[in-house]
Amino acid sequence: MGELYGSIEGGGTKFVCTVASGPHDIRDELRYPTTAPDETIGRAIAFFEKQQKKHGRLSALGIGSFGPIDVDPDSPTWGYVTSTPKAGWSNTDFVGRIRARFDIPIAWDTDVNAAALGEHVWGAAKGLDTFIYITVGTGFGGGGMVRGKLMHGLVHPEMGHIALPHDHDTDPYPGRCPFHGDCLEGMAAGPAISERWGVSGKELPPDHEAWVLEAEYLALGLRTFVCTLSPQRIIMGGGVMQVESLFPLVRARLQKLLNGYVQHPSLIDNIDNYVVPPALGKQAGMLGGVALAQRIASSG
Ligand code: ZN
Repeated sequence: MGELYGSIEGGGTKFVCTVASGPHDIRDELRYPTTAPDETIGRAIAFFEKQQKKHGRLSALGIGSFGPIDVDPDSPTWGYVTSTPKAGWSNTDFVGRIRARFDIPIAWDTDVNAAALGEHVWGAAKGLDTFIYITVGTGFGGGGMVRGKLMHGLVHPEMGHIALPHDHDTDPYPGRCPFHGDCLEGMAAGPAISERWGVSGKELPPDHEAWVLEAEYLALGLRTFVCTLSPQRIIMGGGVMQVESLFPLVRARLQKLLNGYVQHPSLIDNIDNYVVPPALGKQAGMLGGVALAQRIASSG
């Protein structure tokens, strides 16, 4: 029980709006597909107005959004979805539309940073201060914490857009990122799997060669993140990671690619606890919004 918070998990495919005090006290939830900004944000506003009538004023609202987004509090476009290729959403003042209707603190971050915070408070990153949260689904996103602070910098990390070695003989698929072609997202997110193999990942059996190639790309990405960010743990969620055969393949491949260079027991004997699914499962993003709200409410 306790104070009630609102959460928006604003994904490129679907939105999840929730009112909760924490993982064990979820009062209400609304899920719907992401359409045009007016309609999509409008449905969230209507949901929270109804919730406030029912439960009283919410203490704060946390929004984890697909991106790229502006997270610089000093920027005039803070709270905007910025250069997204998603139709109709480029330069959308997401927070402004919410703030116009709700006089409560609003926390704003990337969907992956929100999920990372949720995992930090209640899940697989409890007690860790430097870790990453990755989602592999419609896109490839990455966020996390460094020394207990959510990762922001010039903007926010775009881990899905790193370059990968691409052997065109083994995999002639050109990649589908509109900006870079064969970057990690362009090669390894869900739509690339569907396009490369002609069927959706859901229809490919767990022992299909597609997953060996997928694990190779994911492990190449993780190797870069291990070497550059030195995370204490890597949490991997999203639709593609629901394929159970992927985790063992990715762990084994990551060990092989690191080739014993980065010396730590986590990477050697304890890799099963190093590359892990979110402990909050599919609720990581939604509870991440609750965690963002809780944090901003308690910061006064
Ligand atoms: Zn890219």
